[in-house]
Amino acid sequence: MDVRSANHTGLESGLASCECPECGGGVPATANLMRGEVVRCPDCSAELEVTGTAPIRLEVAPRVEEDWGE
Ligand SMILES: [Zn+2]
Repeated sequence: MDVRSANHTGLESGLASCECPECGGGVPATANLMRGEVVRCPDCSAELEVTGTAPIRLEVAPRVEEDWGE
């Protein structure tokens, strides 16, 4: 039976929670976040940039827009 892949509601495969580097509060993050995406902390409204996805890492997004040549 392929029950394992058919019905997964656990935290491991779905929602994840990250710690806000600004205030230490919990920031809800979905599994389909992409690197470079900016999320907002529900506690302190800081804009946090996703710098990693496995595991999810957040850093305070810089206010000044800079051109990062990649
Ligand atoms: Zn925060």
